[in-house]
Amino acid sequence: MPSYRAPADAAGLTDEQIRAVLAAAMGYDNRRPGDLNVAAWREASQVGRWTLGEAVEAVHQHYATQTDFLMPGHVTQRIKAARRTAPLPAERQLPTAPPAEPERVRAAVAEIGARLGWPERNTTASDPELSVVCPHERCRAGKHRPCGYRLTRGAHAGEWRPIRGYHPSRTKAAQQKEADHA
Ligand SMILES: [Zn+2]
Repeated sequence: MPSYRAPADAAGLTDEQIRAVLAAAMGYDNRRPGDLNVAAWREASQVGRWTLGEAVEAVHQHYATQTDFLMPGHVTQRIKAARRTAPLPAERQLPTAPPAEPERVRAAVAEIGARLGWPERNTTASDPELSVVCPHERCRAGKHRPCGYRLTRGAHAGEWRPIRGYHPSRTKAAQQKEADHA
């Protein structure tokens, strides 16, 4: 039997990371996960020793090839299978989705949180993000305007929904602007 090579840091995911994984699944199945789902998936991630990059990849792979409603067991199976066929760590190339990928996590959590009412970062009028236009294509908030997005589906399609916090690309733009002026 092939050895099961889990990365050294594979010990399961945090709640925020689980939300990012569920946000990826939402893109396909429109699930509306709550706190109980997050807790259940977090436990499954610990049993299966997921990493964030592997779990998100597993979600996309699942829905690229299957129509079954995604369950944690699907993710664990795919991660195990991927690790069995993965090159040894020394040969492994840099992952296309870096394990940390805080920007992607924040973006996904902001979007899912806006839909489900999860707590997010609070904003103040002095945030540097407000000095730049948001580059996010579904937002494009002007200066001094909060970030948000326009609903594209459902009974409320076309309505604008603000998010608490900012799109990561706007944060990046604000940091870039500050760096340019430093
Ligand atoms: Zn924005």
